[in-house]
Amino acid sequence: MYIIIGFFIAHWYLSLFFQTFFLHRYAAHKAFTMSKTTEKVFFVLTWIFQGSNYLSAYGYGVMHRMHHAFADTPDDPHSPTYDESIWKMMWKTKTIYSAIANKTMKVEERFTKGVPEWQAFDKFARSIVSRISWGALYVLIYWQFATLWWLWLLLPVQFFLSPIHGAIINWFAHKYGYVNFPVKDTSKNFLPVDFLMMGESYHNNHHKHGSRANFGGIRWHEIDPTYYVILLLDKIGVIQLAKKKEVSLGAAKRAA
Ligand SMILES: [Zn+2]
Ligand SMILES: [Zn+2]
Repeated sequence: MYIIIGFFIAHWYLSLFFQTFFLHRYAAHKAFTMSKTTEKVFFVLTWIFQGSNYLSAYGYGVMHRMHHAFADTPDDPHSPTYDESIWKMMWKTKTIYSAIANKTMKVEERFTKGVPEWQAFDKFARSIVSRISWGALYVLIYWQFATLWWLWLLLPVQFFLSPIHGAIINWFAHKYGYVNFPVKDTSKNFLPVDFLMMGESYHNNHHKHGSRANFGGIRWHEIDPTYYVILLLDKIGVIQLAKKKEVSLGAAKRAA
């Protein structure tokens, strides 16, 4: 039982880490830079840890920039103000994301400029062969270690982790929570202490200061675990924090 629960928890946080660190803060917002070689390593790590849920940095990055530009307007790729249910929003998000990743949708240059892309790798990592192979590995692990029937209920969640992580923020953090900064959109800080979403929950802070590497830090309890990993990776030279973009705690508080 503990092996499956451990596997589920590890997959939840690791796949989420690569979403928030690589796809969101790096690909979409350029909160820090890295060499092209390091970038390729992170593409591969994202594939390993997102597995059957692998998301293209290009598809995610471009769509997410559109979300910030059009937040809670009819052009927003996902918004609880315009999408009637979380399911409809998830389906629309998937459709737009696929169209961007497959280049069947024309998008403005400001949304694509500088978004990292590795077409050959994306093609492989998004292929049905890759997705089914990862899925089969998950089933095998459950087959071996799921000693209680209800543990199998966790398996479909693992198949769809990336869309689930996306929907938690895109739906709930645009509906419920508190606001540090009055902004034009409906973004909220969903969890006062983000133990679940690795800092993504401080969504109102993030909508106010999009390219800030630290999503938390405005109130004392807003601890953003991903930011500490970013600081560490910056210290050991894996990435370079774009410090000029970083808003100091004092400045952000004054703006609040
Ligand atoms: Zn948002
Ligand atoms: Zn963002």
